[in-house]
Amino acid sequence: MTKKVSHKTKEVIASNTRPPVVAVLGHIDHGKTTLLDYIRKTKVAEGEAGAITQHMGAYQVKAREHLITFLDTPGHAAFVGVRTQGLSVADIALLIVAADEGVKEQTKEALALIQEQKLPFIAVLNKVDKPEAQVDRVKKQLAELQVFIEEWGGDVPVALVSAKTGQGVDELLEVISLMGEIKGLKAEVNQPAQGVVLDGRRDAKRGAMLALLVRDGTLKVGDIIVAGETMGRVRALEDFAGTAIEAAGPSMPVRAVGLKEVAASGTVFTVVENLKAAQTRAAEARVQSARTSQGRVMKVEAPDMVYLVIKADQQGSLAAISHALKTFTTQETHYKVIRAEVGNVSMGDVEVAAPLNALILGFQVSVLPDAQTQAKHHGLAVHTFPIIYDLLDAVKAAIEGKLKPVLVRYDIASLKVVAVFKQGKQGMIVGCRVNDGLAKRGSKFEVARDGAVVGTGKITELRQAKEQVGSVAKGRDCGVAFEGATAQAGDELKLYEEREEIPTLESLKNAQRS
Ligand code: GDP
Repeated sequence: MTKKVSHKTKEVIASNTRPPVVAVLGHIDHGKTTLLDYIRKTKVAEGEAGAITQHMGAYQVKAREHLITFLDTPGHAAFVGVRTQGLSVADIALLIVAADEGVKEQTKEALALIQEQKLPFIAVLNKVDKPEAQVDRVKKQLAELQVFIEEWGGDVPVALVSAKTGQGVDELLEVISLMGEIKGLKAEVNQPAQGVVLDGRRDAKRGAMLALLVRDGTLKVGDIIVAGETMGRVRALEDFAGTAIEAAGPSMPVRAVGLKEVAASGTVFTVVENLKAAQTRAAEARVQSARTSQGRVMKVEAPDMVYLVIKADQQGSLAAISHALKTFTTQETHYKVIRAEVGNVSMGDVEVAAPLNALILGFQVSVLPDAQTQAKHHGLAVHTFPIIYDLLDAVKAAIEGKLKPVLVRYDIASLKVVAVFKQGKQGMIVGCRVNDGLAKRGSKFEVARDGAVVGTGKITELRQAKEQVGSVAKGRDCGVAFEGATAQAGDELKLYEEREEIPTLESLKNAQRS
């Protein structure tokens, strides 16, 4: 690959203003991914779109001749993580609300986050192509949340779009670009870079690769970076389309090769003067993190809680795993992810897992030898998997292993009461015909009359031709002695058995649905 300074870097360095960085938030299924995909596919300069092979967590497009940077991992995670380190990732937020469904729980959560960060935002009413879209209703719902839109005298622009057909997307990009301009986003290009890790992964050949978003300054090949506990010299930089570049200016997403380890997304990175300074800073961060994790040692909350430490090759895998884990949630299942990070299974993971007896699960990562030894010492299980489904199966098995048995009812026979022979204090004797199934002595039953259950009882004796029997098959007549209920001719006795069974996740979910 030839090295060249991309046109984008040149533009940014020359202009002294920086492109707005845009975060897309909103309720699940309201179209965040579809919108980001649509913009990436249609607006990224030709030749670049095709070259994007691995998502980096952000991409850039042009509107009104100016660049806009989109963070393309929707959701709140990176957002929240970074905020705690005192740097905001985005300049502008898009609050996506599906016009057919309107404001939902996560819309409110997203709004709260946006307001907490005092981010200017655009209310993007998506899915306007749908006949069920009710734009005015959504506007009213927003007003109820104190979001005052421009056309009603407020300062929040509204964009009506369809991420599916592309309707309104050009106008949306213009509004973003104008908003960026009005905000007057300035950048100090001639200073060491500072920014945020968007994504970290390990490549078999090239080692740790970090996707970074430069927020201030210019990042150059040869710079020394510290990102949390990891550091290193930047050996190569690539723009989001995979083109090798020499430098990246403000608001530019870039992939950096040369760091020793991957860092979690949301970690703040800075360029420092020399390797020595970098080593010191990284070591300080390690001490700090050890301290905070010690302070956070959690207590076992419930004996049936499954604790999980999950390590994966990249953020995308973690996101997929966490998404799938959500489907394991029922009222009866209890699990808690106490750590989910990119990287190999390390000593630190074992130390976090030990007090809670957590399961350590790796996806496409290896277990460092000292971690293996330490886990053995604590009697902890460490499993690694090449396939996500297998990892999820392991979690499922662990969760199911802690479920308590429940009584499951099985219908075994249906009897018709033909005659009442005797009614005493202790119970009744009736003549029955077995219409279905196999009647058994000792069975419990319900008495059904005209479709309603009128009592319950238990069979104490079954007789055929005066002989006591253990069971009577379908189609046969028998005498039935029972206690607990009263019955009359014409009633149905519905016999059932109750068995103690350990539920499965599947059966719990089915029960919840019905
Ligand atoms: P996310 O969870 O917010 O990322 O939502 P997705 O982008 O995955 O979209 C959820 C569903 O809505 C998908 O089936 C999309 O195809 C559909 N969808 C998204 N945007 C639109 C739109 O503008 N119009 C219509 N008709 N469907 C859409």
